[in-house]
Amino acid sequence: MISLTVGQFCSIFLIFFLSLFSILWLRSYCKFKYFHTQQNKDILRLFQKCKVCNFEYINREGTIFSHCPICGSINKKGGEDDN
Ligand SMILES: [Zn+2]
Repeated sequence: MISLTVGQFCSIFLIFFLSLFSILWLRSYCKFKYFHTQQNKDILRLFQKCKVCNFEYINREGTIFSHCPICGSINKKGGEDDN
């Protein structure tokens, strides 16, 4: 049988649980970061600028054409450079 002193047992216990909790924390943190970056990307993709009044608004429906909430003109999705 393997003989362990109290000090050795405590150190093994501490190392095991600290590594377990740090791994769990890192995983949750990475998931949190990933979720937030995805959410920011989605919001940035939905941002749209009106061509008539230059008002920036969020096209929540994600449709190709959207109405400006200020002047009501129809803007094309992502159409910044076309005529
Ligand atoms: Zn407008």
